[in-house]
Amino acid sequence: MTDVLAATTRSTAHADAAASDSHIATPLTDARAQLAEAIGLLGYETGLHQMLATPRRELTVAVPLRLDSGESRLYVGHRVQHNFSRGPAKGGLRYAPNVNLDEVRALAMWMTWKCALLDVPYGGAKGGVAIDPREHSMAELERVTRRYTSEILPIIGPERDIPAPDIGTDEQTMAWIMDTYSVNSGYTVPGIVTGKPISLGGSQGRASATSRGVTHIALAALRHAGLDPARSTAAVQGFGKVGADAARFLSDAGVRVTAVSDQYGAVVDTGGLDIEALTDHVRDTGTVVGFAGGEELDGADLLTQDVDLLVPAAVEGVLHDGNAGDVLARVIVEGANGPTTPAADRILRERGILVVPDILANAGGVIVSYFEWVQANQAYWWRADEVESRLEERMLSAWQHVLGYAEARDLSLRTAATALAVERVAEAHRLRGLYP
Ligand code: GLU
Repeated sequence: MTDVLAATTRSTAHADAAASDSHIATPLTDARAQLAEAIGLLGYETGLHQMLATPRRELTVAVPLRLDSGESRLYVGHRVQHNFSRGPAKGGLRYAPNVNLDEVRALAMWMTWKCALLDVPYGGAKGGVAIDPREHSMAELERVTRRYTSEILPIIGPERDIPAPDIGTDEQTMAWIMDTYSVNSGYTVPGIVTGKPISLGGSQGRASATSRGVTHIALAALRHAGLDPARSTAAVQGFGKVGADAARFLSDAGVRVTAVSDQYGAVVDTGGLDIEALTDHVRDTGTVVGFAGGEELDGADLLTQDVDLLVPAAVEGVLHDGNAGDVLARVIVEGANGPTTPAADRILRERGILVVPDILANAGGVIVSYFEWVQANQAYWWRADEVESRLEERMLSAWQHVLGYAEARDLSLRTAATALAVERVAEAHRLRGLYP
């Protein structure tokens, strides 16, 4: 087998995002390097390290699509189940043109740590289809989703692996997955996905849960860094499922959000952007670009704005050793999965910048996914305020836990969070034992 413990495996995938790192980084090399650091700290043996570095199961499927024009196209999809030691596999489904198996493997591994860290009873998984959803009609997206679901049907289920939204997918996608699975089962199975529409058994507060969690952590991290949120400024990269609501909640909490970007460009107003007006503009035009309430900014410059708080809430590998030295923020809260490469992590740590890692900062989504699954399995629904207070309690207690662990051992928050999570997964694995 390939050397799963090598932290510098060469690959050309995703090279552009982190092109200036000394080795060619991919999300998987980053995820494995983070794991290796935690394992070194915990002193685990090689066999356990190999097991944790390797997905338990992965399925690659061809997804033929009949276009509205009558022609057909073939897409490739994956579902990777990284770990089941603590419960069913759990993780989102991503539709993006550059999706590849190594990226999905990394995202699945991060889900395992995230679920363990927040103590939700799941392992980790992730799915992806290498497709640009913006190039397809709703009818085409429905057919792709139903075909992909049919192809991965043998390995998913409410007790096996529970998909959820991620980049390029939404509650409508989840409704199609639930319907396809249910039709094949012969009865309605609401626990097969989370992030469903509320009318189909989705949870109150799920759609905004990741952003709410990011905000709880951002406010706690600013205070920890000695900054008053009401006198702080923030830049948010990404104005999608996570970034848009995070910008809104931060602004509601009194933080001055001065810059926001999306994949088309960025806008800035050092006096503070009107997030509500910006949201209207994005609803009408599909991008933050052209917003009259701010000045145009180069997308890459968003990350080096002179702000207190930086929230990368888009994709992996955006903070690398080519730009980490230019970051001016005092606190970084990772709304995206894997936005900071290990090389950037080292530079940011040396520069005294507090980085709150993805597996803690953006865990609000999977926490409320867990609440949704519990509600669906019991057919008993919670009020929005119940969901929100339980979410806040879990986020802040994990924050305290990670902070205490890091301070006691002089670790970065990422190493502390990963080590805590790995410890929990390893304990479950040890208690269950090896079969046969
Ligand atoms: N895609 C989200 C994440 O990366 C949510 C996953 C879930 O709710 O299962 O955390």
